[in-house]
This record gives sequence, structure tokens and C-alpha cells, in this order.
Amino acid sequence: MKIYNGKSIYKGIAIGKIKYMKKTEPDTSRHEISDIKSEMKRYDVARKKAILQLKKIYRDAISEIGEDAAAIFDVQSMMLEDDDYNESVQSMIEENKDNAEFAVFNTGEIISSTFAEMDDDYMKARAYDIKDVSLRVVNILCGNDSESILDDEPVILAIDELTPAETVQMDKSKLLSFVTKYGSSNSHTAILARTINIPAVTGVIIDQAWNGKMAIVNGETGEIIIEPDEKTMNKMLKKRKKIEEEFEILQKLKGMPNRTKSGKEINLYANIGGVEDVEKVLENDANGIGLFRSEFLYLGRNDYPTEEQQFVAYKNVVRKMKGKKVIIRTLDIGADKKADYFNLEKEDNPAMGFRAIRICLACPKLFKTQLRAIYRASAYGTISIMYPMIISLQEVQKVKEISAEVRSELNLDNIPYGDVEQGIMIETPAAVIMSDELACEVDFFSIGTNDLTQYTLAMDRQNCRLESMFDTHHPAILRQIKTTIDNAHKHNCWVGICGELAADLSLTKTFIDMGIDELSVSPSSVLPVRQKIREAE
Ligand code: PEP
Ligand code: MG
Repeated sequence: MKIYNGKSIYKGIAIGKIKYMKKTEPDTSRHEISDIKSEMKRYDVARKKAILQLKKIYRDAISEIGEDAAAIFDVQSMMLEDDDYNESVQSMIEENKDNAEFAVFNTGEIISSTFAEMDDDYMKARAYDIKDVSLRVVNILCGNDSESILDDEPVILAIDELTPAETVQMDKSKLLSFVTKYGSSNSHTAILARTINIPAVTGVIIDQAWNGKMAIVNGETGEIIIEPDEKTMNKMLKKRKKIEEEFEILQKLKGMPNRTKSGKEINLYANIGGVEDVEKVLENDANGIGLFRSEFLYLGRNDYPTEEQQFVAYKNVVRKMKGKKVIIRTLDIGADKKADYFNLEKEDNPAMGFRAIRICLACPKLFKTQLRAIYRASAYGTISIMYPMIISLQEVQKVKEISAEVRSELNLDNIPYGDVEQGIMIETPAAVIMSDELACEVDFFSIGTNDLTQYTLAMDRQNCRLESMFDTHHPAILRQIKTTIDNAHKHNCWVGICGELAADLSLTKTFIDMGIDELSVSPSSVLPVRQKIREAE
């Protein structure tokens, strides 16, 4: 038995086998193979695995983006069944003795350039898909894809670094926990661990030799125990049972109001990243969704989601929420949330760079596509829109102008939409300082304590070396929360907190005393926060 110490980014105890994953650039260079039969088999196994992955992505995508848009994954899996494609790869292996990676990659390139030259827009667009599907097979051949690593029993994933885009694409039902070398408790990957409710630890030097070994991840202490002895295993099983018992007690709070002993009601909402998280929101009895991080719809894909694809996703969320409030935050891409097709330039300080509302205001077409999709979905439930990274009155006025244009265009097209509240995130010190004026412009504020802490303390929230100094309870943060609430209330604007601090049970009473109207937390934190609210005077 060996114990390693890291920093817990989410609580709980996971017991299972470790899957070690090393990320490398896929190697598509040529080398001559000697065993044609086994190379053909390698190709066939990888191809079949890719087909299975695509079929699953297709099924999942139907509820996320609708049947029409999801069909592309079905088309991609059919490409791998195509005779011409397979004959090309097989003949390169058989006749030229090419390795499978080279054969697949080059087949993709050749067929894709043929498609690109066709005089047919549909076929031209498939050029990209054939390249994409070939890259999927190459990655499987290199043992380099996060999806295929999670293809059998649930595992503890050990990996140096996990990006939000990679996490989004994983089959979370196969993930017991993750352990990373890099990361911080305020990164979006950590936030995802909280949303899916699995223990996670960071800051650990990962050893390839752990692969396949039995391990325990103790999210309470940050310990990773490799090959635990019987005594430790029994102790951890007991601990896990205790956590399960506490969980059972919390279940009794379902259906209960979020009301303090003196009768103050707080709205208790949940944060989500996509349609698939709504089940957890309902399961944990949140009263609404206080933050839908819509940028996750843009991650892990090859191109911008269309208006229709977004409309289907938003509509599915509001429909499932059956009239309860859903606050959709407009695109907050940039910093750690990256998608290649945005072609964003590399920046020295991405957290303080071209991101979020700055991108949306610079690219009105992109912004309007999203706003149109949100407004259209508002006809099916209760939607509020919230804008991230605001620093000035002018930005809010511009954003309101654009959303008014979108509504006029919908009116002209006779497309219905609901009554949509408009709010902003207060996550920059500038917004806090301007909050008295900003409050006159919007219906609500939601305080993003993750970014507010990073910008106030001048500390990168992603930097694990600063973790111990990243003081979310710093008086400068608490005072800014109080200032924001007071300024908002002077102008009839309600205020919530949707950053991770909203779930900090040691501050629930403080927030209530400050006058907070709403708290939005990861689904698994809803019932613990409800308990705290109900215990407060
Ligand atoms: C925040 O900054 O507190 C917030 C809720 O937004 P995100 O974590 O997505 O940046
Ligand atoms: Mg933020």
C-alpha cells in the first residue's frame, strides 16, 4: 500500500481501479510493418470502437441538440462502414505494409480532398467529417482518446491535466473519480466534478505504474491510496457508508422550503453545464437553474452550434424544468474554456483577455444566433438571460440594444417568445464599484465569486501554486458582496450568488444576513445548503 497526498477538489470516497491516461499528439508518421494480419486486426478493432463511440454520441446528442443536428454522428459512423474507405485503408496496410495510423490518416486526407472538390454543398461539408472520423480512429490506435479509455467498468481516471472540453466529452457514468497533476479547486474541471458529484483530487504526481491497480480516492483529505491493505479498505468502506447515511438524512429535506427560522425565504437554484445535468437538478429538488453555463454547448465540437441546435438544447432544459426559472448565461468562452474553431489568438493573459461578453460584442452575428435561440426557447418555460464579465454601463446598454433587435426580428418573423428577465454577472471589481448604476439597467445580478476572487486578489484561479493563498473568504470579497447586495436592493434589483462560494456552508448565514435573495450551487450541494438555511435564525 502507498499513500500520495494531493489537494481535494471535491469530497466523497471512490474505490476502484485506476486508468492511467497519457495525452500525446497522435503520431501519423509511416513505418513499415512486418505482421500484416495483426495490423489489419488493430485497424478493425479501432474502427469498431470508433463506430460504437459515434453511436453513443449520436444517442446522447439527440436530447442535447435534436435529431436533425445529431444525424451527423450517424453519418460519421456510416463513413467507417463504407467499402471504399475500408478498402483504401486495408490495401495500404496489405500492399504497402503501412502502419494503421498512417493508412487511416492518409485515407481520410485523400477522400476528404475528393469531397472538397465536389460541386455539391452537402458533399463539400462532409470533407471535414471524413477527416474528423479518421482522426478519431487514429487517436484510438494511439491509445490517446479519453472516451475509449472509459469504455468498460467505471474507473478512477489518473491524468496529468483534464480540460473542460475533454470532460464534457466523457461518459461520466464510467467515471468514479479523477486525479490530476495540474488543476485547482476553482477551475471549470473542478466545477464539473462537483456537478457530476464525484470525488476529485489534484496536485498529485501521477505514476504510470498505477494503471490497473486498485485504489481509493479520499476526496475528504486529498489522499490517493494505491493498493490499500485490508485494514485501510475496511476503514474507507465504513467512511463511505457514513457519507451515504448522511446523504440519506438530507433526502428528507426534499420538498421542504428554503426558509430560515425567522421566515426569510431564499431561492435555492442549481448550476448546470448542459441538458444532461437537469436530471440531477430535479433529483436534488433545486427550485430552478441559477446558472446554465451555455458555453459548454460550444465545447468538444468541431464547429459553432447553430441556432436550431441551441434552441433544442435550451428548450429541452426549460421543458424538463416545468415552469421553474432557468437562467441562461450567454457564451463565456475563453480562458480555460477553449474551442479550436473560434480560432482565438494565443494570449499571454487569457483570463484577462478576449473572452465572454467581449467576444460576443465583437461578433454580433454569433451573439445574436445565441440570443435568438434563447428567446425562442423562452416560449416553452421561464427563462432569464444573464451576461458574463461585465465591466461597464456601456456594455450593458449595448447588450440590451442587441437583445431588443433580436426581439424585433422575432416579432417580424412571427416567432413567439416569453417574458425574459435580463441580468448580469457581477464578477469583476469594476462591476461591483459600478453596481449602483448597473442595477438601474437590469432585473437581477448574480455574483460570480470565482472570477471576482481571481480579479480582486490578482490571482489566477487555475494556478495550483496559488491554491493555498486563494482566499475566498478575504474581507475584500465579502465586502464586495455586501456592497453589491445593498446597491442592487436600492434599485429593485434582486441578487444571487452563482460562484462556488454560494455552496460554502460556513457562509450561508452570513449571506442571509447580508440580504442575499438567491444562491445557485452544484446540484449535489442543494440539500446541504437547504439544511443550513433552515437551521439559520
Ligand atoms: C464565477 O466566475 O464565479 C462563475 C460562476 O462563472 P465561471 O465559474 O463559469 O467563470
Ligand atoms: Mg466567471
